[in-house]
Amino acid sequence: MFTKLLIANRGEISCRIIKTAKRMGILTVALYSDADQHALHVKMADEAVHVGPSPSKDSYLQAEKIIKIALKVGADAIHPGYGFLSENATFANLCKQNDIVFVGPPVAAIQAMGSKSAAKQIMEKANVPLVPGYHGDDQSTDGLKSHADKMGYPVLLKAAAGGGGKGMRQVWQASEFYDALAAAKREAMSSFNDDLMLVEKYLTEPRHVEIQVFCDNFGDGVYLFERDCSVQRRHQKIIEEAPAFGMTQALRAQMGEAALKAAKAINYTGAGTVEFLLDSDGQFYFMEMNTRLQVEHPVTEMITGQDLVEWQLRVAYNEPLPLAQDALSIHGHAFEARIYAEDPNNEFLPATGKLALLQPPIESEHVRVDTGVVQGDEVSVFYDPMIAKLIVWDENRDKALARLTKALTEYHIDGVVTNIEFLYKLASSAPFKAQQIDTGFIEKNHDVLL
Ligand code: ADP
Repeated sequence: MFTKLLIANRGEISCRIIKTAKRMGILTVALYSDADQHALHVKMADEAVHVGPSPSKDSYLQAEKIIKIALKVGADAIHPGYGFLSENATFANLCKQNDIVFVGPPVAAIQAMGSKSAAKQIMEKANVPLVPGYHGDDQSTDGLKSHADKMGYPVLLKAAAGGGGKGMRQVWQASEFYDALAAAKREAMSSFNDDLMLVEKYLTEPRHVEIQVFCDNFGDGVYLFERDCSVQRRHQKIIEEAPAFGMTQALRAQMGEAALKAAKAINYTGAGTVEFLLDSDGQFYFMEMNTRLQVEHPVTEMITGQDLVEWQLRVAYNEPLPLAQDALSIHGHAFEARIYAEDPNNEFLPATGKLALLQPPIESEHVRVDTGVVQGDEVSVFYDPMIAKLIVWDENRDKALARLTKALTEYHIDGVVTNIEFLYKLASSAPFKAQQIDTGFIEKNHDVLL
């Protein structure tokens, strides 16, 4: 196995990765910016190296500097976590050129999935069902509009380079098209420096159901079932669960096979997530593939009993997949709620400040808290304001949901405004219990939640 792993990330995911590496006997190296000098991930790692000033672009996004550090400390592998450089093909390539293993898929696979339109072109050839739409090269305003007109409204404009829900606009009728396109392009340009757009049929009440896949370097691939991530605000996930409710065995197998087909079409290796929209008739459509570990991977770990970071490290070390498909099964039900420093009563504006009190629920086989902060830490303006992920498990959905609401009432934070009460209202609401869930959940239940 690797002897020394550098984690090119911060916060909860760095801590999460360090835990598994430690258990596997791998030495860990953390990076820290000025703001993170005393952070938990720094304390947990065997070694820690300063990477730069607080802004991400000067620290956690400094690809060449990170490579230099890895060479200096003698790391034989780099785990990029999620966000930052995790889906950056140039960084993956730099690792390769310097004989450091990038714990992730091959450079070509990252590149192939880096553009939503290129990805859809590849998946179309591989016969993976797609959200109907236009993902071609004609980017003229009138050309795009004529595709939208033909498709029929509503449509969704999406930045090919998009992520985090940015560069997307719904268009409900033809007269709104030009303004929406201009706005989406502007946002895409400022966020991704790339305003290539695709047009999709806007599905009005779909669910977001994604499949966790894993492939090794010997041509084998498995799926670790699905996660339902339909509860979203501004296209960003809030509560995720696994398995997805109402899945038949047949649909699960079909979606799993389609996801593996997607992965094989790009010679994928490692952990990947294939995101689908699922409509109420059981039709599913490929949206995109994320070529990294997802924020919400713990719900999959809870229902399969597997450690996905361990799987990633083993596959990256050129070992075969730890288990074959028929050795994998679903046990019970899990939820993840993302605890954020943000103000639900003020447009969910990110909040900052000192975590004067930070008292999470007690962890057990039913309750897991993945976090990168301790009491007294500062939630700064520099990074994503997620404080923790609260993950619960029980033998069925009702019991797991009861665990979730109870754990939320046991989560106490002072000093910084959080979304805990909002999450509690959401998890204990009648429609959430009754599985009346699609991607419009928050909008539809606005009155109950806020
Ligand atoms: P990003 O990469 O920015 O997260 P995605 O393509 O993954 O963007 O889409 C994010 C969310 O937007 C999805 O989970 C879904 O809720 C919604 N969405 C995306 N495409 C469509 C579509 N064609 N119709 C309806 N909703 C969509």
